[in-house]
Amino acid sequence: MTRELHHYMDGKLVKGKSGRFGDVYNPATGEVSKRVPLASADETKKAIAAAEKALPEWSATPPAKRAQVIFRFRELLLENIDELAELLSSEHGKTVPDAKGSVTRGLEVVEFACGIPHLLKGEYSEGVASGVDTFTMRQPVGVCAGITPFNFPAMVPMWMFPVALACGNTFVLKPSEKDPSCGLRLAELMIEAGLPKGCLNVVNGDKEAVDELLSNPTVAAVSFVGSTAIGQYIYETGCKHGKRVQALCGAKNHMIVLPDADMDQTVDAAMGAAYGSAGERCMAISVAVTIGQETGDELVRRLAPKVQALKVGPYTDAASEMGPIVTRESLDRILGYIDEGIAAGAELVVDGRDISLQGYEDGFFLGGCLFDRVSTDMSIYTDEIFGPVLSVVRADDYEHAIQMVNEHEYGNGTAIFTRDGDAARDFASRARIGMVGVNLPIPVPVAYHSFGGWKRSLFGDHYVHGMEGVRFYTRLKTITARWPSGIRAGTQFHFKSGAEH
Ligand code: NAD
Repeated sequence: MTRELHHYMDGKLVKGKSGRFGDVYNPATGEVSKRVPLASADETKKAIAAAEKALPEWSATPPAKRAQVIFRFRELLLENIDELAELLSSEHGKTVPDAKGSVTRGLEVVEFACGIPHLLKGEYSEGVASGVDTFTMRQPVGVCAGITPFNFPAMVPMWMFPVALACGNTFVLKPSEKDPSCGLRLAELMIEAGLPKGCLNVVNGDKEAVDELLSNPTVAAVSFVGSTAIGQYIYETGCKHGKRVQALCGAKNHMIVLPDADMDQTVDAAMGAAYGSAGERCMAISVAVTIGQETGDELVRRLAPKVQALKVGPYTDAASEMGPIVTRESLDRILGYIDEGIAAGAELVVDGRDISLQGYEDGFFLGGCLFDRVSTDMSIYTDEIFGPVLSVVRADDYEHAIQMVNEHEYGNGTAIFTRDGDAARDFASRARIGMVGVNLPIPVPVAYHSFGGWKRSLFGDHYVHGMEGVRFYTRLKTITARWPSGIRAGTQFHFKSGAEH
């Protein structure tokens, strides 16, 4: 029997009442494993109301006390990391080590959040005018909402709520309906860590719940991570309703390979970055731009047998290097792109479509695919495929390569592989991209720096975590003060002798 999931509001699991449900799959078997309730606007209002009720007390709690709760949550995360990774893999499909790695990246943000009291300190300027001082404070924005994607169901929520809570806000999380269990479990652990009820709520759902979060006047700020089309809608709708919005969106990350690159390192990097997590990462490398005929030939010659040999399988098999695609619908979308690439004349050097795993015939599996001689007008180049498909594009020279990077509509991540420090430095400076790697294929910043892209990979002004996250979840207030001065009015404070009176 398929298990029915719930919402999590005001410190407890709450049964969905809308009568609408979504299917949660085990992508390896293709079976529906759970049903997730899709909240109505009224149910979403209840989650928002719980967060609103909890706000005054939590925002008035001293920052160090809030941090103590986050610290206990960190301990609980470590204790429960195996369970979380298993839960994640069973709904997303990615391998367990990969799932665990992503929980660990979330944990690093939690560790960052433990130190947030330090970042809430204001500035002080004495004597900005005669007898006047100015000081600043960072105050919570209020009730915040997070709308998160399927590909990192633990890490991406942890980019948001630990920072928001540490800054004194309360939170409503709307996880992806494709793999909602991690969000629910994280909320339970936060309450177990001592977070007062109502400070973190999870409402499961789709557009109906999201639209309520975007229009409800109580919600002050919305963080979104997901595809560009939806992100743009979230940004525009949230802004229209007067909210602060950050929307981190889709990507097409280019890896530039110069002729002097260390090819062993480059090939290994391309394999992990293009095919890890079946390419379902916003920082996945999906385009390799090679400079010079020989560089392209060598890269393809060395990649092809490795792509062919990828061990594709269920997360329950420890030997699997790559799991299935999250849903049948996503798989069909990726297959559609492969057809388009072939029709447009790209050379499919490795064809991963013909894959069948005994016992998992109904799973959403796709082997690694490698296209060569891709041109910039093809849909496999212009669009985000979000699957295990790497396109090799041959550039005439370095200038041509950087032009491709800069003219692409997305600007999340990019990487250059070279031994030439001057070229790397030039690339890092000129790339119109949010995160740049030098001989590193997935340059995800550590938690105390900030993560975010440029161009159509991010709508809004603030990145997530690090100081940018703190800025997003706080409002700056500046106080300018003058006190009536007894000293200058002539008042004497020293003891006077009797003769002076
Ligand atoms: P998605 O846009 O389909 O869904 C993201 C969230 O939006 C989910 O919670 C979903 O329920 C909600 N949603 C979907 N349709 C909606 C609608 N019509 N109205 C309102 N809300 C809606 O994204 P996904 O498929 O879950 O995730 C993959 C995408 O996320 C990729 O494009 C990937 O690049 C992107 N992503 C970006 C980053 C980043 O930091 N830039 C990180 C991870 C994933």
